Amino acid sequence: MVTLGTPNSPSATRVLMLGSGELAKEVVIALQRLGVETIAVDRYEGAPAQQVAHHSRTIAMSDPDALRALLREERPDVIVPEIEAIATDVLVELEAEGFRVVPTARAARLTMDREGIRRLAAETLGLPTSPYAFCDSLEELHAATGGTIGFPCVVKPVVSSSGKGQSTLRSAADVEAAWEYARSGARVERPRVIVEGFVEFDYEITLLTVRSLDADGEVVTRFCDPVGHRQERGDYVESWQPHPMSPTALARAQEIAAAVTTDLGGTGLFGVELFVRGDEVLFSEVSPRPHDTGMVTLATQFLSEFDLHARALLGLPVDVERHSTGASAVIYGGVDAVAISADGAAEALAVPGSDLRWFGKPESFTRRRMGVALARGADVEQARDRATRAAAAVRPRA
Ligand code: AMP
Repeated sequence: MVTLGTPNSPSATRVLMLGSGELAKEVVIALQRLGVETIAVDRYEGAPAQQVAHHSRTIAMSDPDALRALLREERPDVIVPEIEAIATDVLVELEAEGFRVVPTARAARLTMDREGIRRLAAETLGLPTSPYAFCDSLEELHAATGGTIGFPCVVKPVVSSSGKGQSTLRSAADVEAAWEYARSGARVERPRVIVEGFVEFDYEITLLTVRSLDADGEVVTRFCDPVGHRQERGDYVESWQPHPMSPTALARAQEIAAAVTTDLGGTGLFGVELFVRGDEVLFSEVSPRPHDTGMVTLATQFLSEFDLHARALLGLPVDVERHSTGASAVIYGGVDAVAISADGAAEALAVPGSDLRWFGKPESFTRRRMGVALARGADVEQARDRATRAAAAVRPRA
């Protein structure tokens, strides 16, 4: 049974976020609406979720000792990983002692790098994926690209996000530069990369999938309408919902999402990334947490992906109904500077059906995501046009 409590009192339900970016910020806001006491952790101070949580802590979450000490001290009711770069073995260890990790410590560990989740999906669950190989040296990358994988192909560090260190290779002449670039973009010393055959997909989607408890305490799996998106250099720039799919492709996408999320277990929202070619669907990745492309649900669903995650992790029932067609468009920093300003919010919000999230990140980089424009529309085309116009109206400056 779920009981509501009072923050900062002995009756409080305390939720600790590991990672305090823009997605965590919205989860914290959703939790606050249910009277949950929130603790936001990040590696730097003033991160978006820290600005709205009851408490904030700043530690290196990839340091096992620092992470273990913090969690033992805070003793939260629920631990919610919001990024990949966490000492996930500590989560596995503490979960065994009775701490609750969302959706599960195993899900956080398997998805912290591309290898764990790819091997689970392709080798254990037998789901269709692009052909792939893991390489630990330039020689191995030459061998894989010259052999089973071929060209074109995509090289990515096994631990990385937002397209960092990712490149597309057309021929053997590109191999060395891709290897060096992947090493520079990797978040860890271990220079392991995944090389994947390039998939000529018609479109790619994120299937937001929620595992939540129904009134009888049974886990039920629900799917939001497919989110279509466009990526540049491996980073999302625009998304929309719904993305039209054939009934066969949609059924296949839901089967794949159900298989992988059932295996990862627990309750919470997952972002299942899929490539679609005709009626064929390939699994690409899964985040056991809200997905950046899913920010569009702030404009389209009665419960956004953040509300869904908050409810599911608390053991409350959910509803994935969509009320509008909508789109999101990313606002990049455009400058390398601290404490930036942005002009144009009024023009952006004068676009019909538009809305804005400005994350309040203390430091801007040229390609750092600083905000997102949202828009509703009569159809996807109109919504995308409005979101893109609203995003372009916001002009960050030092
Ligand atoms: P990822 O970080 O793996 O989600 O990759 C980011 C984006 O790069 C994806 O959303 C695709 O647009 C593109 N991409 C990644 N892997 C492949 C692939 N094997 N074939 C074609 N495009 C890919």
